[in-house]
Amino acid sequence: MIEIIGLTKKELTSVLEEMGEKSFRAKQIWHWLYVQGAKSFEEMTNISKDLRNKLTEKFTLNRPKIVTEQISADKTHKWLLEFTDGQRIETVFIPEEEHGAVCVSTQVGCAVGCKFCHTGSQKITRNLTAGEIISQFMLVKDVYAEWPSSSQDNRLVSNIVVMGMGEPLHNADNVIKALNIATDQDGLAVSKRRVTLSTSGIVPHIPEIARETGVKLAISLHAPNNQKRSQIMPINDRYKIEEILSACQEYQKIVTSRYITFEYLMLDGFNDSLQDAQELVALMKKYKIGAKFNLIPFNPWPGCHFKPSSNNRVYAFSKELEKAGFAAPVRTARGQDILAACGQLKSKKSV
Ligand code: SF4
Repeated sequence: MIEIIGLTKKELTSVLEEMGEKSFRAKQIWHWLYVQGAKSFEEMTNISKDLRNKLTEKFTLNRPKIVTEQISADKTHKWLLEFTDGQRIETVFIPEEEHGAVCVSTQVGCAVGCKFCHTGSQKITRNLTAGEIISQFMLVKDVYAEWPSSSQDNRLVSNIVVMGMGEPLHNADNVIKALNIATDQDGLAVSKRRVTLSTSGIVPHIPEIARETGVKLAISLHAPNNQKRSQIMPINDRYKIEEILSACQEYQKIVTSRYITFEYLMLDGFNDSLQDAQELVALMKKYKIGAKFNLIPFNPWPGCHFKPSSNNRVYAFSKELEKAGFAAPVRTARGQDILAACGQLKSKKSV
């Protein structure tokens, strides 16, 4: 059986041709899957009963199973999801006034092991398939009834942030496939400007993301120099800040219109001094990167020894970056009460 969600258009067309079907069938099925949100072949009423039976024999069409869900006081919605092999991940929906972002996971666990990250404390089990990645977004559209068949007028499920469990560029092929399905204009049609991939800096794949997807890029930087970064992100011993910034230059040669967001977790007494901010400014100026910063209040979790920076320190840090011409908003922590905020996802004991 082939998982139909996650096949590229080309792959779907060629499997159908192998079954003796004309290529327009692939377009019809694509439309049912990604425009109508069909959850079974039975719903595909403009396809003959005979072909629907054949599709049922050849393909699976599954959404992940919802094991548990929680909605936080600020309406952040988190699901613990299970795939057919019993592996579990978390997906989070962060609604705003007029839009909302689905934070998708790309791996069960993570091999990067950032010291501040709850997910990173859970060992890597496996990569998710392209279908398992994109079906998280589709499941949120199901829950919020945002397919054309529903009477719902709102269109809140609009953005994708690839920032859930896992390092997306350790699963680059499947992530690229999933993002190309998400942004296909004949299907889910999510604008590339509404998709952000966040990486700890897996250098060889950064230009590939620009070339193959054109989505926005965020780098988990979290420190202004290698000495500090290596203390909290062991991956920095493999890919140094200078190599990451060179790869960012490559990205911006291809995707010229987009700023790169540098995520910066504010850790009390570790990376939050004015000198740290000045070092960051010097780094960005040296590499001439169109950059903006996202200052993230640290969300403590049980067993982690870091503490959040005080509001005053965060404010002063932000001002120092702004003085040098960089946007540096402080991200509002969302879903903190349900451990749905950045770096807090974990599938083993969650919710
Ligand atoms: S921050 Fe991201 S890359 Fe680092 S351990 Fe957590 S999930 Fe993995």
